[in-house]
Amino acid sequence: MRIIADLHIHSRYSRATSREMTLESLALWAKLKGIGLIGTGDFTHPAHFASIEEKLEPTGNGLFVLKNGIAGDDVRFMLSAEVSNIFSLGGKTRKVHSLIFSPTIEAARKINAAFSSLGNINSDGRPIFGFSAQDLIKIVMDASPEAMLVPAHAWTPWFSIFGSKSGFDSIEECFGEYSKYIHAIETGLSSNPEMNWRISALDRITLISNSDAHSPSKLGREANVFDCNMDYYEIRDILINKDKKRFLYTVEFYPEEGKYHSDGHRACGVRLGPEETKALSGNCPVCGKGLTVGVLSRVEELSDRPSGYIPENAIPARHMVPLEEILASAMGVGVASVKVQREYRRLVSAAPEFSYLLDMDSDELTESCGELIASAIQRVRSGEISVSPGYDGEFGRICVFDKKIVPQTHPVQIGLL
Ligand SMILES: [Zn+2]
Ligand SMILES: [Zn+2]
Repeated sequence: MRIIADLHIHSRYSRATSREMTLESLALWAKLKGIGLIGTGDFTHPAHFASIEEKLEPTGNGLFVLKNGIAGDDVRFMLSAEVSNIFSLGGKTRKVHSLIFSPTIEAARKINAAFSSLGNINSDGRPIFGFSAQDLIKIVMDASPEAMLVPAHAWTPWFSIFGSKSGFDSIEECFGEYSKYIHAIETGLSSNPEMNWRISALDRITLISNSDAHSPSKLGREANVFDCNMDYYEIRDILINKDKKRFLYTVEFYPEEGKYHSDGHRACGVRLGPEETKALSGNCPVCGKGLTVGVLSRVEELSDRPSGYIPENAIPARHMVPLEEILASAMGVGVASVKVQREYRRLVSAAPEFSYLLDMDSDELTESCGELIASAIQRVRSGEISVSPGYDGEFGRICVFDKKIVPQTHPVQIGLL
């Protein structure tokens, strides 16, 4: 069966998240979107863990379902959490976010017990620890050899394994002898698989994509599409073996839309491409301080292949824009406007969001959405859109009805805004 999976989300117990991020509303929204498998998020947080134990029951294959059946049998949960490790290694301060997946309540409980003896798991759904990434993976593997650790949003400047500000140049540099337990990384919103394919050291790694949603409407803005049984152990096997037969593709943001795609300084109104940043020795032309070097530059720096290179065992990617944003761009109004929200509700009550984005043919789209929206969706599918790239924490902006572009994976000259 085809499974659309979004494995990185946060509960209401993480900072800056919606109060609506409860297991019930996650399940209901997942159903509206067409997501069959969703992370619980934040299993390290005692209050969220209590609600996981109270409201979910195991399905017997490493996954869970709501006891009250609010979303029927359509939505399963995987125990998931994200943690932040801030530590020093090789004379530098490192800040790395990691996703943890657990097949059982017992393993999650063991992980939580180890964490609570080493740091504070109460204050934030995404806890911050002072121990190293290697200590982290030891804890996770000790709790269950079938648990998984996946470096989160691997390229963002501040808090990721390859980040320009406080990351590493390779998986081995971060995880040392434990690197053999790292089978997958999350590409994050600001990078896409094509960018990651330029780094031969990642050929053995499975690239996954998730929403990192802090509110329910953002679920599935990136996702993984599998063809397999609803089974934790089978999905783990797919990730370990980078199995192209059962991992059909990832659903991706256009990476320019991500908040850290290009380089720049938000406060100074400066956005630059990799070549420009290099020419300025990484310093802001307005304030003179170091620029926030984004994902595109960082990929250039670590890549050993030209842009456009496709490794033999690459899992395909489909670039998409959330339906609300397509509606807003096509209608020429804001995402939060009544007009967009009314149409979004009408559409997702007739079919899941992913049916419109991924599956319906042009006749079906025209019949259900009208000609304008149908052609907007077609343009998104074929990449005939333009994006003004995000930088230094500012999201990029999508324009559906403009000139044709293809996702940028080569140096772009962007200049001052
Ligand atoms: Zn994170
Ligand atoms: Zn500046």
